[in-house]
Amino acid sequence: SWRFSLLMVVGAIGFTTRGQLPVLFSSFLPTLLIPVGVIFMHRSLGLFGKLALSERPLVALLGGAAIALAWVTFVVDDYRARVIVVSGLLAVLFAACGTSIYGYRIKRFPEWFTCAIYAATAAVMGTRLISVLLYEGTLTLENDTSAIHDIYFTSFPFSLVAMSLGFLMMANRELQSRLESQALHDPMSGAYRRDALLEMVQREIAASRRHGRSMSILMMDLDNFKAINDTHGHLVGDNVIVHFAAQVTQLLRTQDVIGRYGGEEFLVMLPQTALDDALATAERIRHRIAESIATDLPSYTVSIGVACLDTNDSDTLSLLKAADKALYVAKRAGKNRAVAA
Ligand code: GH3
Ligand code: MG
Ligand code: MG
Repeated sequence: SWRFSLLMVVGAIGFTTRGQLPVLFSSFLPTLLIPVGVIFMHRSLGLFGKLALSERPLVALLGGAAIALAWVTFVVDDYRARVIVVSGLLAVLFAACGTSIYGYRIKRFPEWFTCAIYAATAAVMGTRLISVLLYEGTLTLENDTSAIHDIYFTSFPFSLVAMSLGFLMMANRELQSRLESQALHDPMSGAYRRDALLEMVQREIAASRRHGRSMSILMMDLDNFKAINDTHGHLVGDNVIVHFAAQVTQLLRTQDVIGRYGGEEFLVMLPQTALDDALATAERIRHRIAESIATDLPSYTVSIGVACLDTNDSDTLSLLKAADKALYVAKRAGKNRAVAA
């Protein structure tokens, strides 16, 4: 975006030299700096939205327009043709910027705002193009005083400011989302942090009580993890934890949530799930882990304690206690198993 701003400033300085410098420097090159700046903007928008955009068609269009503009500036001095080339080119480029934002996966207010500014700017350029195309008679710099000409020239600086503002808002919102996500998630496993998950559990318990629904939790602890660390080293131990979280996440439904409860302990919340279904899910997880063959990891197993919300009297603490107790029973019974409270 700084490239765009720089080009605009250089372009504006160029325009002020009209009459003192040759047309090449006072008009032709400054005019071309604007579309070059917009192409840089388009590129930034593509990178920001992680879109695989190609700049080639736009650069080719710019090249064609530059040749046409040179022709109607230096070979035949045709003001009307110059306006047609420049407003047509800018209409396409701004529309391309708007379209790329429209293609973003996530669109919140800043994205819609910026997209609307691009669309409005493209519309002004397009209207200017059409009005000049429809103009009868010879158009010159002196008699070009239509309303759309005035709108075009007065709105453009505001459009540029609004575009920069939109960019800033989008970047700011993105940064905010990233920080929020970092605050909620454990960086190593990608699972929720313990306190974030416990808060969700608390809310889900309240909602389940209100609506008379069941919900379950799974308390999971990897078996003999100290031995894995001792035999293979802490780095391999870390990789096992990451592998485990990824495997479990694959098995869960969209409404289920996994959180890292402690070092190699994970907690899963299963909303609207009765004990039988929760136990079945736990068995699926246990099986998947016991059968999984990752070439670069030692084989490992997991023990799981399953607890279901007792609709009469149950809060987060007693639910966790029940799951913990079931997990303890699973460990005592020989590990690599799921036990319901
Ligand atoms: P059990 O089957 O009874 O669970 O035996 P265990 O060896 O897994 O015992 P326990 O759950 O009490 O021990 C967990 C060990 O996991 C202790 C700690 O050194 C290790 N650990 C905890 N967090 C991490 C981690 O982030 N990375 C690695 N590599 N090891 C961890
Ligand atoms: Mg443990
Ligand atoms: Mg353990």
